[in-house]
Amino acid sequence: MPELPEVETIVRDLRKEVLHRTFIDIWTDAKGIIKKDTFDSFKKKLIGKEIIGVRRRSKNILIDLSDNYILLIHQKIAGHLLFGKWKLEKGKWISEKEGPLLIDPINNYIHVVFVLDNKKQLALSDARKFAKVELWKKDELESSKEFLALGPEPLEKDFTFDKFEKLFEKKRGRIKQVLMDQNFISGIGNIYASEILFESRIHPEEEIKNLNNGDLKRIYSATRKILEKSIELKGDSFSDFRTLYGEKGGAQDMNKVYQKEGQPCPKCGGVVKRIKQGGRSSFFCPKCQIKR
Ligand SMILES: [Zn+2]
Repeated sequence: MPELPEVETIVRDLRKEVLHRTFIDIWTDAKGIIKKDTFDSFKKKLIGKEIIGVRRRSKNILIDLSDNYILLIHQKIAGHLLFGKWKLEKGKWISEKEGPLLIDPINNYIHVVFVLDNKKQLALSDARKFAKVELWKKDELESSKEFLALGPEPLEKDFTFDKFEKLFEKKRGRIKQVLMDQNFISGIGNIYASEILFESRIHPEEEIKNLNNGDLKRIYSATRKILEKSIELKGDSFSDFRTLYGEKGGAQDMNKVYQKEGQPCPKCGGVVKRIKQGGRSSFFCPKCQIKR
C-alpha cells in the first residue's frame, strides 16, 4: 500500500501538473470506487470545479477545489494516480505516449479517468479496485470524525521529539502495530515500520511500556530520516506503486529488512526473519533487534 513517501511523491508532482486546471469530464467502469455520492451526482458536482490546491493528509491525497470542495483520493492497496493522455479503444485506455504508461502492466488497470480543461487526463490505475474517491465540502471533511482522529504528521516542522514522546504516554501495545496506527501517527505502513524499527534496533513485537527515552529518540529520528529519504527517491516500487508518470521510485533499493527474509542483515551479517503480526508480515534482524 502506498505510504507517506509514495503519497507525498504523487502530491508533489500533481501540484506541478494540475494546479488551476478545471475538471471537464470523468469516466469510470468501477462505480464502487466513487464513495459517498452516486456516480451521477459526483460527476455533476465535480465538472466545472477548478483545482486550487493539492496536499496530503496521512495517506489521503486532497485536491482543493473551487466552491469549497475537496476531492479526496485514497489509493489503498494497489491504486495509483497517473497523469498523461490516453484514448479509449475497445473498452481499454491506451496511453498516447510511449514509455512506462504504455508498457508497464501495473499502469494499465485504469478504472477512473478525469479529463482536464487542457485535454490532459488524470487516471487511476488500480488492479484491486480498492481505492476510494470522494467529494467533500471542505468544512464537512475537516470536521469529520475520521479526519479529526488522524494522528500527527511525522514530517511537519513543528513535530518535535517532545510531541512524539507525549504520544506514547498513555499508549499500550506492540511498537510496530502502534506505529502503523493512523490515529496514532500518520502515514507509516508496513514497509516503513519495519525499516524504522530496524534502524532503531527495536524488535517489532516490543511492548511500548519497555521503551525508554533513548529508544524513542532513535525511533523518532529514524522515522524522519527514512521517510524524508524515501520521498527524495520517489517512493517504494517493490510492489504496485508508480509515480504520477508511471515510473518506478527508488526507495525499495534502500530497504534493509523489508521483504528480505533469509537474506543477510546489512549491519551484523545475521539472517533477516519474517513474522506475522496482526495478519501483516514484519521483517527484522533477530541479532540487532533483541526483544526485552
Ligand atoms: Zn543484524
